[in-house]
Amino acid sequence: MNIRANHPPTAEMQATDAAHHLHPFTHGDALNAKGTRVITRAEGVTLTDSDGKQYLDGMAGLWCVNIGYGRNELADVAARQMRDLPYYNTFFQTAHPPVIALAKRLAELMPEGLNHTFFAGSGSEANDTNLRLVRSYWAAKGKPEKRIFISRKNAYHGSSMGSASLGGMQAMHGQGGLPIPDIVHIDQPYWYGEGGDTDPAEFGLQRARLLEEEIARLGEENVAAFIAEPIQGAGGVIVPPETYWPEIQRICDAHDILLIADEVICGFGRTGNWFGSETYAIRPDIMTIAKGLSSGYAPIGGSVVSDEVAETINAMGEFYHGYTYSGHPVAAAVALENLRILEEDGIVDHARDVAAPYLAEKWAQLADHPIVGEARCKGMLAAVELTPDKSARAPFSTPVGQVGLRTRETCFENGLVMRNVRDSMIVSPPLILTRGDIDTLIDRAVKSLDETHAWLKAEGLMTAG
Ligand SMILES: *Cc1c(COP(=O)(O)O)cnc(C)c1O
Repeated sequence: MNIRANHPPTAEMQATDAAHHLHPFTHGDALNAKGTRVITRAEGVTLTDSDGKQYLDGMAGLWCVNIGYGRNELADVAARQMRDLPYYNTFFQTAHPPVIALAKRLAELMPEGLNHTFFAGSGSEANDTNLRLVRSYWAAKGKPEKRIFISRKNAYHGSSMGSASLGGMQAMHGQGGLPIPDIVHIDQPYWYGEGGDTDPAEFGLQRARLLEEEIARLGEENVAAFIAEPIQGAGGVIVPPETYWPEIQRICDAHDILLIADEVICGFGRTGNWFGSETYAIRPDIMTIAKGLSSGYAPIGGSVVSDEVAETINAMGEFYHGYTYSGHPVAAAVALENLRILEEDGIVDHARDVAAPYLAEKWAQLADHPIVGEARCKGMLAAVELTPDKSARAPFSTPVGQVGLRTRETCFENGLVMRNVRDSMIVSPPLILTRGDIDTLIDRAVKSLDETHAWLKAEGLMTAG
């Protein structure tokens, strides 16, 4: 590799990292025993590490680098904004040009009726905003007892106290005294894992109707909102049966509750449309956005709310809520430039018309692999479920996640970033992937699955085939 080093030697950085850096969602001792992987550069869809090894980034960072790496326009916009106005707040009856322009641009892009954005620094913060905003909304409407949020098991809505409580990750709830009160979780529309012999369409209806049962149990007068990701991301790319969302929408319409679509992953082209709400014909009252909003080039998130919610909040007096970096000028300018590129370069169109159909075609072929129990795909999101016995959709006898983690490491060795969730493997690549990139992704995935299969056989862990 002929790459100019922009960093100290790998071993030195690993030692320093182990000494001083606490990593998110990581077992520290296990990481420090082997040393962190240090990513130093990226261009297009390719990452380079500190040893010069290159990887196809099948995860677009963390589901966010929708336009790909190395777009200098964003760097230029950020530098210009830092010179003009690096920071100013939006609290003191003040604003600045980038945040005003971004709020307008979002209103243009959003589904009808979502015309007002409350900005945050991340998706977690935006969902915390939703908790306070929705409860304040109902209080302002004279219904302060409408406080309960209904969410779903295995949902991911962020890592702060509020957003992790909204989420349904049991391992997260086990640490730090979560969930906070007045948040309940219903079962998810995860057919492969929980559908058994039920037909997927019927299963989708059953899981949607749990919402109506929960509203009845709690009393409609106590329920504030239902929050869900159009497609669950961190939970394992759980693509709901087509029957699920129409029934959820019917239930939300029939009862006096708000519908919050958490589009932190699904937004900005990921599902082949600008928003997952378009893909599934969802009409949310509030949409959570982050990640692809700036393609990860700057931290920014937001809650986009309906005219009715905005009018109520605006009329109620002061909303005692906000972040120092709500509508940060550099992040807002970068987001605006990202949205321009997504549109003017036709990246959302490319995802819908070229990349997603080709990925779907190639990904479906993985279903024939001896350790794949299901291969599912929607837009630029895809997952394979690993199993020792295809016909039974059986789990491995090893602790959950062990085979997945091993496969993830094998993928890294083979030059592919593919993440595991439990014992499934998922991708959420940059939307700019070409057909050639998709061929490379699939080749490396198959090679990695073959190696995992060989290991499983050698260890006697295959129960069929
Ligand atoms: C990542 C994510 C969040 C949290 O966003 P952060 O920017 O990490 O705080 C919230 N909701 C969903 C659906 C996400 O995928």
